[in-house]
Amino acid sequence: MHPMDEETRKPIRVLAVDDDPVALVLYDRVLGGRVDLETHSTAESALESFLARRADVLLLDWLLPGMDGVELAARIRELPDTEDIQILIVTGRNEADNLQQALNSGANDYLEKPVFPEQLRVRLEISIRNLELRNRKKESERKGALMLQVFDNSLDGIVITDRENCIIYTNEAFSRITGYSADEALGQTPAFLSSGFHSDAFYRQLWEAIVNRGSWKGEIWNKRKSGDIYPEWLEISTVRNEEKEITHYIAHFSDISQKKQNEEQLRYLASYDTLTGLPNRSHFMEILERSLMRARESGERGSILFLDLDRFQVINDTLSHGSGDLLLRQVSERLRGLVGATDTLSRTGGDEFAILIETLTGVDHPIQIVESVMEEFNRPFQIEGQEIYVSASVGICIFPDDASDGDTLLRNVDMAMYRAKETGRNTYHFYSPEINTRAFEHLALEASLRRAIERREFLLHFQPLLDAKGKRTVACEALVRWEHPELGMVSPARFIPMAEETGLIVPMGRIILEMACSAFVELKQLSIAPDYICVNVSARQFFQDGFLEMLDEVLQSTGMSSENLELELTESVFIQDVNLTLELLNALRSRNVRLAIDDFGTGFSSLSYLKRFPVDTLKIDQSFVRDIHKSEDDMAIVRAIIALAHVMRLTIVAEGVETEEQSGILEREGCDILQGYLYSRPLPLPDFHAFLTQATFR
Ligand code: C2E
Ligand code: CA
Ligand code: CA
Repeated sequence: MHPMDEETRKPIRVLAVDDDPVALVLYDRVLGGRVDLETHSTAESALESFLARRADVLLLDWLLPGMDGVELAARIRELPDTEDIQILIVTGRNEADNLQQALNSGANDYLEKPVFPEQLRVRLEISIRNLELRNRKKESERKGALMLQVFDNSLDGIVITDRENCIIYTNEAFSRITGYSADEALGQTPAFLSSGFHSDAFYRQLWEAIVNRGSWKGEIWNKRKSGDIYPEWLEISTVRNEEKEITHYIAHFSDISQKKQNEEQLRYLASYDTLTGLPNRSHFMEILERSLMRARESGERGSILFLDLDRFQVINDTLSHGSGDLLLRQVSERLRGLVGATDTLSRTGGDEFAILIETLTGVDHPIQIVESVMEEFNRPFQIEGQEIYVSASVGICIFPDDASDGDTLLRNVDMAMYRAKETGRNTYHFYSPEINTRAFEHLALEASLRRAIERREFLLHFQPLLDAKGKRTVACEALVRWEHPELGMVSPARFIPMAEETGLIVPMGRIILEMACSAFVELKQLSIAPDYICVNVSARQFFQDGFLEMLDEVLQSTGMSSENLELELTESVFIQDVNLTLELLNALRSRNVRLAIDDFGTGFSSLSYLKRFPVDTLKIDQSFVRDIHKSEDDMAIVRAIIALAHVMRLTIVAEGVETEEQSGILEREGCDILQGYLYSRPLPLPDFHAFLTQATFR
């Protein structure tokens, strides 16, 4: 028996009522000393005592003078907060039939007279246990409610999730901080708050700590409902059951954005260079680390340009005091104008500046920036009424390729800058030797392709096209050549794709067309011109807005007549927007410009498909001609193309003819025109003059 209420250590108070003093003596003997027992001989005095001081258990004899036990039970139950009180009715034999009445009055149990000590003890024990059970339940309910109240009123956000990490509770602070109501959060996992700032590895470590060590705490960036990203201090702990299995996770966090802001303000003063207002070196390093993290996560690339003024010390010494500062400020202003919104310009040291490009749009991106930097330095600076020329040497790193942490990256880019200084200042150098050779070539090529267009470094070579029977030169194809000042002759196979990729093909195409038309007009004036000249037009150029206007302008300005011009289009043109293609081709047709399909057989189009387009000429691709004397297949293809083309009244050109054997076969198969090294390589204009003159006399 548990004589004491364990929770409170207060003895159980029992009121026993019986008009039989023997019964009261029995109660006293059995229960006295174990519980706080008070005996009464009437219900009235027991009620009075109960009202004055409550009791936990009532032992009521049913039959009493005056108010009886059942009545007293009913009266007690009417009082507030008495539902937990255990009431035992003690009945005589003759009342046993009316037990239902006793229970209805609010009794929990009954005892039959005569009452035996053991029976009394056991029944009381049961009552006390019931009482304790109820008390304990109430206590934990009360505690639970208290806890929730504490949670609700907490200034920290609190989230409780179940073992599947589904949210089962959030408090008011949670809603205040995140902007999400509890209803919006319940049932979700906390992942819906994530800012996207952290890597998978970060979350993996977090969960490892929770599972292995039972808790995690630290700073984390989350996202509010408004989309704001904010920093919070977060602590996550686990709740485990008796089997040591995790049943719940409790997270509580506080919004530390305000704290951060204050810190930030302080940091601003420590983060910016007072002379130029640019981020200083340490701040730059922070920005760089963040970019590196982002680059690692997104798989994108970024770049650092590290710029050091050449001979700044000399300039500084020759100028009056303070003018060096003025120069640095002007330099920073010019550089600021070149840096994109998402990029960062920093003054990392005395005469050192760094530009961080967050996301490279292409391999040529850093080159473009460094070229515009160089251009800025081509203009003199105005200091104290003097014009001063300053140059800079630039090192370039690509990340994360060149280094995955900020310090190494800065060391490497510094090294690259010194390399640039060694190679003679006023230049730039990539850290990666690979980029410096192979990719750099590509980059440099593109940059110089732009320059080449401005400076018209292109020229044309001309290759004759001969009619298969009389071997008369009926036409010529203009093939572009690029005389690169350092690299020498660059093949069109190398730069045409790049020109298309970058859109440079548009201005370049115009230059080519102008040169081709002028050359033809010149030949015509010398009366040695063939019937027409073929000019290659790439798909991108062809579909560019204003292509027809450009063509008209060139024909006009060069005095070229349109029927002497044949444009060579590749098959790719014909598989694009059919309506637009037809419209353009018809516009050309109405100008009497001839049209050829170049490299026929390498694309996807079939002859029957091409029937719909107004075309004059089909050029069988070199690859079929190359093996025509060896390959049955190629032979069959060429034969089929020629047969079909003739039905469609197309002129057939075979290009890449290198041997008599090939020309013989093509002639026999009915090919109309032949072009290839067998007759002539593409020739510079003077040589082509000579070729035509000889051919004319031959
Ligand atoms: P394409 O239009 O198929 O030009 C024919 C190519 O074959 C030329 O190469 C020519 O020199 C070469 N060739 C001529 N006869 C023979 C021969 O008997 N054997 C061999 N093996 N090759 C022969 P090239 O001049 O290097 O031009 C390559 C490609 O560059 C051209 O192929 C064309 O697609 C493009 N291209 C050249 N000039 C221009 C241009 O002005 N504009 C455009 N958009 N593309 C051009
Ligand atoms: Ca061609
Ligand atoms: Ca071709």
